[in-house]
Amino acid sequence: MQEALIDLHSHSTASDGSFSPTELVKLAKEMGLKALALTDHDTVEGLKEFIKAGKELDLETVPGTELSAYFEKGTLHILGYFIDFHSQKLKDRLKKLQEARAERNPKIVKKLQALGIPITYEEVVAISGGGQIGRPHFAKLLLQKGIVKTFDEAFERFLKKGAPAYVEKDKIFPRECLEIILDAGGVPVLAHPFTLHLENDALEAFVKQLKDWGLKGIEVYYTEHTPEQTAFYLKLAEKYELCVTGGSDFHGKNKPEIKLGVGYGNLRVPYRLLEKLKEVAQQ
Ligand SMILES: [Zn+2]
Ligand SMILES: [Zn+2]
Repeated sequence: MQEALIDLHSHSTASDGSFSPTELVKLAKEMGLKALALTDHDTVEGLKEFIKAGKELDLETVPGTELSAYFEKGTLHILGYFIDFHSQKLKDRLKKLQEARAERNPKIVKKLQALGIPITYEEVVAISGGGQIGRPHFAKLLLQKGIVKTFDEAFERFLKKGAPAYVEKDKIFPRECLEIILDAGGVPVLAHPFTLHLENDALEAFVKQLKDWGLKGIEVYYTEHTPEQTAFYLKLAEKYELCVTGGSDFHGKNKPEIKLGVGYGNLRVPYRLLEKLKEVAQQ
């Protein structure tokens, strides 16, 4: 029998995905997945609906979130699984993170306007459908306006780090993200390590540091990891006794080339990883 498959990384309309939490659960069922985690950026707003839909549609659901931390060389995201999403303290702290993110969006609009692009903040809000606004929404708008031909071009020319309309986020340091997750009873996991843009030795040193601060896992299986990267991250997880997770980082129509559960097509995340994650969450 083939091993049951899962996806431990997905986004809903509560952050920058295009599917509602309920729609995500439905899609996971259609894809034949045995479990799904919802990991929206800096929020737990979608989790109540997500858990309810999982019960109704008989899909195992994992409550999660994905926090962005300041990291000079690249992008640092930390996933938090099995967090107590009813915790008021957690909600208050996430609100602070969201505010830092929100202040960034009008600045991006100003920068784009300064580059001669006719764009308003209201248009970005409209395209986000009322959820959290992120750079994918800007990319979508630029695409709609015919300013770029592809989503990637929007990031390359305007939105990626170092591009003319990029705005640095308020600095929230990695240790604080780990603390927020740990305080809410969650399991902190380093997301897609390749976005840190570190050589292997530097990455290992950084993982060691994060572990000292309470890191408990590494996202080894991920849509964009090469086989070499996957092998190295697996080795790191073993060496530092960190649990292994995996997921597609599905955003629905906002990143249409990535499919739930399978990423670009080859991703496979076995159910046994979730069993281990649950053990760690119990500790
Ligand atoms: Zn991420
Ligand atoms: Zn993500």
